Amino acid sequence: MEIVVLRLHHRITRDKRMSSHLALVARAFGASKIVYSGEYDNRIEQTVAQIVESWGGNFNVEYTQNERQYIKEWKREGGVVVHLTMFGIEIDDVIDDLRKVEKDVLVIVGGAKVEIEFYHLADFNIAIGHQPHSEVAALAICLDKITGGKGRKKRYSNARVEIEPCKKGKKVIDKRRKE
Ligand code: SAM
Repeated sequence: MEIVVLRLHHRITRDKRMSSHLALVARAFGASKIVYSGEYDNRIEQTVAQIVESWGGNFNVEYTQNERQYIKEWKREGGVVVHLTMFGIEIDDVIDDLRKVEKDVLVIVGGAKVEIEFYHLADFNIAIGHQPHSEVAALAICLDKITGGKGRKKRYSNARVEIEPCKKGKKVIDKRRKE
């Protein structure tokens, strides 16, 4: 099952860190790609490229000018669409139904204003609690529930650096030294 994240309406000045953080969370919690719409911003690609270069995997960043068409195409190709919104159904009440579908999942996260059309295009409107908070937090929890925690435990054979977990202090294995 593939998971792709769609970030709506990126704004260069207001979202510059938020959208990069969404990309890093998407990668770290098991998605294969983030697609964003709004203003084109190559800093998102640059941030992700630096991380992938050291920490591995083949996570991609893509830009779309037409997010509605992207969603419709995703559905036409047999994928399911989740939209994260505090107005949706609490994730704990819907996660079993979503998992049963066993299809590739497109997870939509909003920016400033999410038009009502997206609520109708989505197969599942999912809330991570019903309080307003952050798209980054919502995405992390959603991906973790979808993957059952497996996404964040992935290891990458092409990683150049890896962490060796330790109770105290920091240990980083630098595989480049062994080459
Ligand atoms: N006011 C905006 C709207 O019209 O939907 C929401 C702004 S919020 C800062 C940005 C995004 O964070 C939302 O579009 C949604 O994807 C996500 N988000 C924030 N709180 C959420 C929650 N409780 N559950 C799910 N997603 C949430």
